Amino acid sequence: MKSTGIIRGLDNMGRVVIPKEIRKFLDMTEGKDEFEIYMQDDCIVLKKHKPTCIFCNAEENCIEFENQMVCKKCIDKMQIIKEENSNI
Ligand SMILES: [Zn+2]
Repeated sequence: MKSTGIIRGLDNMGRVVIPKEIRKFLDMTEGKDEFEIYMQDDCIVLKKHKPTCIFCNAEENCIEFENQMVCKKCIDKMQIIKEENSNI
């Protein structure tokens, strides 16, 4: 883990502002993007949340369906299953 040398305070509501340069580096958009919060020993790790396929966790080529993300490979697999089981 690399130190940024940046120290930020916790406000009265428990919030910390992520420095603009870090948000820019991670290509984060305020009001839109989200972080996943991890704990590691006495550290809090923030990772930019990337929606992933509910079946295989792929990040690439995902579309939203019924409020879930599904990747093209899994859609293709479901299409094959549908064709193989045309009686259902
Ligand atoms: Zn998938």
